[in-house]
Amino acid sequence: MTSPLSYRGRFAPSPTGLLHAGSLVTALASRLDALSHDGTWLIRIEDIDPPREMKGATEHILATLDRMGFVSDEPILYQHDRYEAYEAALETLKAQGFAYGCGCSRKAIQEASVALGLPQGVYPGTCREGVHGHVRAWRFRTHDTVTTFTDRVCGEFHQNVERDVGDFVLKRADGFWAYQLAVVVDDIASNITHIVRGQDLLDNTPRQLLLYDALKAPRPTYYHVPLVLNDEGQKLSKQSGATPLNPDDLLGELERAATRLGLPKIGADSLDVFWVKALELWKLTQSNTL
Ligand code: GLU
Repeated sequence: MTSPLSYRGRFAPSPTGLLHAGSLVTALASRLDALSHDGTWLIRIEDIDPPREMKGATEHILATLDRMGFVSDEPILYQHDRYEAYEAALETLKAQGFAYGCGCSRKAIQEASVALGLPQGVYPGTCREGVHGHVRAWRFRTHDTVTTFTDRVCGEFHQNVERDVGDFVLKRADGFWAYQLAVVVDDIASNITHIVRGQDLLDNTPRQLLLYDALKAPRPTYYHVPLVLNDEGQKLSKQSGATPLNPDDLLGELERAATRLGLPKIGADSLDVFWVKALELWKLTQSNTL
């Protein structure tokens, strides 16, 4: 039985591309944060979006992490094995009035939100009181309230999910599970207490907190790591041309990731020394966060 106070963290890459400098910074921050709390650290492969996946990426990510000394403390979880858990969570949400079926096509949503003057992408609530046509997707019912949390990096964050996002998708029209539901169901099942991930996900957090509350699970704490940007100021990602890590210089890649996290230059001559020194420095620089 896990003590409610023990630290459990995770790194949850999506195999839509190879590990690159940006994802390495997140992996390093989450591992160092878990180590500095004498916590448990897990790897989860978020392979719930087959159309966006890259063949061989999972194996590449895991092998590269392993070579750099990132070892999951428990068996690696694969989201493609978790469909039953997502279905069960959706049933719970439906039974309690938190989820409803939606029959809108992308075009119908676009037209209705333009007619109502809603911001781009905000669902107009068309099927809230009853599905139009047949159920294509399942959505979470939001309300006009502000969700607030305190991020360890960014401080207080507020969002009115109904106004800024609308009733968001839990299960997609193509039958695949939405990231928002899968990530929360898995983090709850793994008893994750501390989430460390990229700042691109900061504004997804209020949606996920609504799911924690609806599923009656305790909220985790959040540390949203600043993004690594390319020369044009875009987030480093496969889409913005991030090159995969250099397999012949993984120590150098770790050193650069540590610098990007704001740690002083380490200059280690082996992986073992790198991890010891990086941990010492992380503890020093983080002593003022939760
Ligand atoms: N799978 C997500 C990604 O690769 C991360 C999800 C999370 O950490 O919550 O960006």
